Amino acid sequence: MNQHDIKVNHIKAKSIMTKSNAPLGGYSVNPYVGCPHACRYCYASFLKRFTGHQEDWGTFMDVKDWPPIKNPGKYAGQKVVIGTVTDGYNPLEETYGNTRRLLEELKDSGADILICTKSDLVLRDLDLLKEMDQKNRITVSWSINTLDESFRDDMDQAVSIERRLVAMKQVYEAGIRTVCFISPVFPGITDIEAIFDRARNQCDLVWLENLNLRGGFKAEIMNYIADKYPDLLLLYVEIYNHKNRAYFQGLERKAEDLARRYGCRFLDNETPYERVPQGHPTIVNYFYHEEVRGTANSGKRNKASKTS
Ligand code: SF4
Repeated sequence: MNQHDIKVNHIKAKSIMTKSNAPLGGYSVNPYVGCPHACRYCYASFLKRFTGHQEDWGTFMDVKDWPPIKNPGKYAGQKVVIGTVTDGYNPLEETYGNTRRLLEELKDSGADILICTKSDLVLRDLDLLKEMDQKNRITVSWSINTLDESFRDDMDQAVSIERRLVAMKQVYEAGIRTVCFISPVFPGITDIEAIFDRARNQCDLVWLENLNLRGGFKAEIMNYIADKYPDLLLLYVEIYNHKNRAYFQGLERKAEDLARRYGCRFLDNETPYERVPQGHPTIVNYFYHEEVRGTANSGKRNKASKTS
């Protein structure tokens, strides 16, 4: 969908900083409601229910206005994740500049800021991010789950994978931590080794997360697989209907092997914010991290899960 076809509303938010229970962060911050990338597997589409939107996910955007952050220093050392249920660098950001405004308000806060995106518009703010990296810890993560642009085109309306990789390289070369977030991993389609190979010299971290099918989009994805990848349908039925973990356990072993081969650290459900020697990104395994028990990053898995 062309960004000019998106229905845009302007809304007032009481505060832009929202406390988060997610494993990754203290605060999750979303300068917009909705997301024109319209990923077919988008877990954030549940928000429609809470925001009164009847329109299809991806066809509307609420542009937030919020009172200025009064005491940015209170976020010092806190994890602030920008873009948990939207992409702060969606194409409308060019017009409305909410993400830029947010960064400027957090400029001297000392926060650990993680930006999650599927865009290269982040390059517009590279100078600001470099400046911020003096007082804050800045990390930029791109979601890349394929190198096949036609599959990407089937799944989302964000910029091409190639543009994401070019942006990642420029941000990395500017001295800012970058993440290649291989997510969601589609069984039988996402080639983690090929993506790792393409990105390993321009990122500090590689995160791995499984495709999680729930809610309204499960049927849509299953139908898509039946239509475009019929040979994989049985595998998807086994994983998503019968809860068989063998495929992802095999991928964990493969990722561990990659880490060994390339001299990378391999971690399970941890979130280190480190720089590493070029070509040796830390690989972090988040497969089924939504089921990790206890505190965030405890690393303990649900052993009761079916394994074969
Ligand atoms: S980029 Fe993220 S928030 Fe936006 S549609 Fe895709 S999955 Fe949803």
